[in-house]
Amino acid sequence: MERIQVAVRARPLSEEDAKTSPWRISANSIFISNHSSKFDFDRIFGEDCKTIEVYQARTKEIVAAAVCGFNGTVFAYGQTNSGKTYTMRGSATEPGIIPLSVHDLFKTIQQDVDREFLLRMSYMEIYNEEINDLLAPEHRKLQIHESLERGIYVAGLREEIVASPEQVLDLMEFGESHRHIGETNMNLYSSRSHTIFRMIIESRNKSEDEDMASSCDAVRVSVLNLVDLAGSERAAKTGAEGVRLKEGSHINKSLMTLGTVIKKLSEGAESQGGHVPYRDSKLTRILQPALGGNSNTAIICNITLAQVHADETKSSLQFASRAL
Ligand code: ADP
Ligand code: MG
Repeated sequence: MERIQVAVRARPLSEEDAKTSPWRISANSIFISNHSSKFDFDRIFGEDCKTIEVYQARTKEIVAAAVCGFNGTVFAYGQTNSGKTYTMRGSATEPGIIPLSVHDLFKTIQQDVDREFLLRMSYMEIYNEEINDLLAPEHRKLQIHESLERGIYVAGLREEIVASPEQVLDLMEFGESHRHIGETNMNLYSSRSHTIFRMIIESRNKSEDEDMASSCDAVRVSVLNLVDLAGSERAAKTGAEGVRLKEGSHINKSLMTLGTVIKKLSEGAESQGGHVPYRDSKLTRILQPALGGNSNTAIICNITLAQVHADETKSSLQFASRAL
């Protein structure tokens, strides 16, 4: 499996928008009908595609690798209203990447007779470069620490031991329900924060053979991060001022840093001893252990093919292209 994979997903259009859309999609490319812009990708999911197809194409392998001890991160990138949350969390009628991964994860570990597993989950948001715990709403402005034992971690972040997919999804609901207190516009708020859903997978060899049980592979710990990023639209375009502008510049900086980190990783900078600027944003710093090294990363670039958003869609596709 390639370490960094990029897929593009276009959300469905209204009939009106479909008539005027300037975009055309072929198997591996997406372009403006007069060919002024053209982008090539491994995989483009058109508006008829289901989330399960997006899941099976990329994330499924990342989940399987996480069970075997390899860290993994899946991002939903795109402007507000492009379908990031729909893709990650799903709707009443279609499960998203998170529930699909969680069900798969539990199924996979139940089938593994040689190891015993302990699963934990955490759920956090980064808003204005502040880390808040969505499972423990009183835990706000958490700090990132690093130690020899634990590596890079968010100090004080709740990690809940979980025994079933239902429990995980209930905890997520809990986290969401506490999130928007005092917010008049949920969509506006969520468009300005990054949400990191995380499963921590610990397993131990059950073998009675002492050599096997004490071998270096006896205990494995890995993390799986499923990330719903803040909207990628630029602050300037929406005419933001004051608080909104500050939010906008934090978002732009962390998304820009993410783009740079992924580009460096895809160029092999890390293995060649080059500098990867993880520390330039909280997002990349928190995710560092699950982006570098042997980790697997996938980016789902969510776009809309509506005419009015053509510029924003172009810039999302540019972001995704940089990661290839
Ligand atoms: P974002 O999180 O990027 O701001 P949302 O996921 O909230 O965007 O999507 C915006 C709206 O479009 C929502 O009402 C959502 O249900 C709908 N939507 C997005 N993608 C799809 C899809 N693939 N199929 C059906 N509805 C979708
Ligand atoms: Mg959203």
